[in-house]
Amino acid sequence: MKEDTLCVHGAQPFDPQTGAVSVPIFQSATFRHPGLAQSTGFDYSRSGNPTRSALEQTIAKLEQGTSGLAFSTGMGAISSIIKLFLPGDHLIVSEDLYGGTYRLFHEYYAKYGLSFSWVDTSDFAKVKEAVTPKTRGMFIETPSNPMMKVTDIGRCAALAHEHGALLIVDNTFLTPYYQKPLTLGADIVIHSGTKYLAGHNDTLAGLAVHASPAIEEPLREAQKSEGASLGPFDSWLVLRGIKTLALRMEKHRQNAFRVASWLREHGEVERVFFTGFDDHPQYALSRAQATGHSGMISFYVKHQETVPRVLKRVKLILFAESLGGVESLITYPLVQTHGAIPEAMRESAGVNDRLLRLSVGIENPDDIIADLAEALG
Ligand SMILES: *Cc1c(COP(=O)(O)O)cnc(C)c1O
Repeated sequence: MKEDTLCVHGAQPFDPQTGAVSVPIFQSATFRHPGLAQSTGFDYSRSGNPTRSALEQTIAKLEQGTSGLAFSTGMGAISSIIKLFLPGDHLIVSEDLYGGTYRLFHEYYAKYGLSFSWVDTSDFAKVKEAVTPKTRGMFIETPSNPMMKVTDIGRCAALAHEHGALLIVDNTFLTPYYQKPLTLGADIVIHSGTKYLAGHNDTLAGLAVHASPAIEEPLREAQKSEGASLGPFDSWLVLRGIKTLALRMEKHRQNAFRVASWLREHGEVERVFFTGFDDHPQYALSRAQATGHSGMISFYVKHQETVPRVLKRVKLILFAESLGGVESLITYPLVQTHGAIPEAMRESAGVNDRLLRLSVGIENPDDIIADLAEALG
């Protein structure tokens, strides 16, 4: 099945019992047992729910994994995955990543005896240097958030495996429609399903996919024990979002290219970070491991005073957190997504007070550009 077909039909094209073409929402907390030590396969919705299962199987197919798990949020997924590690373990983490992930690792899991090295993983030599005898995991975002740096998934996977470590890739920015980390050697793929997969800025969700029985059991156990599992209605919303993923991703890609090209020519814009440009420093690597770019663009304006003006003046583009939905959103990473990251680290990653991040939606690109033109002045 081709990608776009798979998006529409998912793992469960109709309900086997009723023929319903939309997966039913099994809004049930618990499931009746036919008898002692018997189960329909579902017992209690924290550990398993048929609507969630349909989503889990769909994302597993899309990522070409063997099994998927759906969590209440992206952070819920990441938090459950961290349960695969033990006190004393060391993880190498992309320094330029979602601020919430930094906060979770640095402020919480570091207290429980895990250690983290924050590395520019787009520079493979630095990743290699960061490996210690205790390294058991690598956690990367590619392209990174918000600087759009690209990390070589295949090389990181090989390095991780040489040292008995797992490679975890946050694939939120590209989705399986454009990039499939498991096929490049990664062990686990995670998503904030809140973003492109659900796609409509209307629900929160997290997903994890892997291709190993050795990961399946502890991860299911962690999901069930921790309880950050996705509810039936939200599972359905993500499934419905995925039906149009191919169409949306194509439109996000086209729109973002138009908007990024326009921004680059604007007198008030100093620099545009966008993996779709053929002069992006890692364009060749991007092309080799991904089949397209999403709607994400970051840019520096020349003067700090421009920032509040743009954020106040945009009308069509909404000044709001998040990304990947049909509506265009603009964020100011310094105070929003990356507010939790210490100044020195933020600066070294390039997140300064002149950086804006744009999630280009699926509106008409002329309208998005007109809004930016008005706001940039
Ligand atoms: C939003 C986001 C997360 C966190 O996901 P939530 O669904 O908000 O918990 C993790 N990684 C990336 C890249 C994100 O954009």
